[in-house]
Amino acid sequence: MTLVPLPAFADNYIWMLQDGRHAIVVDPGEAGPVFDALSRGNLQLAAILVTHHHADHTGGVAALHEATGAKVFGPARERIPEPFTPLAAGDHAEVLGLRFEVIDIPGHTAGHIAFFLPGDERNTAAAGDIAPLLFCGDTLFSGGCGRLFEGTPAQMLASLDKLAALPGTTRVCCGHEYTLANLKFARAVEPGNADLTHYTAHCEALRARGAPTLPSQLAAERKINPFLRSREATVLRAVLAHAGLSSQTAEADVFAALRQWKNDFR
Ligand SMILES: [Zn+2]
Ligand SMILES: [Zn+2]
Repeated sequence: MTLVPLPAFADNYIWMLQDGRHAIVVDPGEAGPVFDALSRGNLQLAAILVTHHHADHTGGVAALHEATGAKVFGPARERIPEPFTPLAAGDHAEVLGLRFEVIDIPGHTAGHIAFFLPGDERNTAAAGDIAPLLFCGDTLFSGGCGRLFEGTPAQMLASLDKLAALPGTTRVCCGHEYTLANLKFARAVEPGNADLTHYTAHCEALRARGAPTLPSQLAAERKINPFLRSREATVLRAVLAHAGLSSQTAEADVFAALRQWKNDFR
């Protein structure tokens, strides 16, 4: 099984898993790049996984489903182009011998879900060495997190906590190439974080030759992503100072202030 990000729009990635004959795509905001990849690889589309309802993640679903008959799996609590199999926490999506676990991660949207492919015996036969693998849409980005359009800061913090608790070897497949802008903000929050300095140089080199910075590794995100580090002393101190908050501030309010700081950051 191989994993490829298909660029779409200005900065979206449609993730494709394929085994040489069949493919799975995640969040096809447009159908064109998927049709191209299918015909290039002579692949049949087996399934479409959708993390949340935004058009840049669902715009290609109807056309792909109509043309290929691929099964569509999506968030139970959101409306996406139908028909689809509605999934929520505790459910599984089984396709091409892979068993994806569904995690509820509200915050960016109210019903946002993630698909996690554990690197256990059940999957290794079909997945090879690509698992553990996480498709997290617009919730966790490399160096950042999604905007809070429908959920509360407390929900987003709890969602990111769930993702951060996955194995450190998890490869994180995000919905957008926002990494360099995120890292610029991360450096403003934690100028003394040496891991962040190294990671930035690594990502800048990738972008300089037109390569994606994704998937990233969860273990690296824990070291450099301020939104996974809002309880770390360095991040906490920076947020409290920036927002003029007291040291008694509740952690969801610290997280909210961090997210607001990013919203205002240029
Ligand atoms: Zn979105
Ligand atoms: Zn998006």
